[in-house]
Amino acid sequence: MPLYEYECDTCLKVFEVQQRMADAPLTSCPECEGSVKKVMSMSSFQLKGGGWYADGYASTPKGAAAGSMSPTPPSCATAGACAKCPASAG
Ligand SMILES: [Zn+2]
Repeated sequence: MPLYEYECDTCLKVFEVQQRMADAPLTSCPECEGSVKKVMSMSSFQLKGGGWYADGYASTPKGAAAGSMSPTPPSCATAGACAKCPASAG
């Protein structure tokens, strides 16, 4: 369920409310019943955007990182081709 952030115009209290998309936005403060305005929650905004971005971004480094994920120590310049490399043992 998405989390919405509201700020009270009267007591300036900021609070988060879990609401469904279909729910009507909150209009009164639970503390003083003053009018509230919805504020953009940076945390949920970043989660939403970051998740999508990370998902599309992850597919690229996966293939590129395959080389560095090999058991061959990075110190070996031959990258598995020399006799000392465990990759060439079998
Ligand atoms: Zn208030």
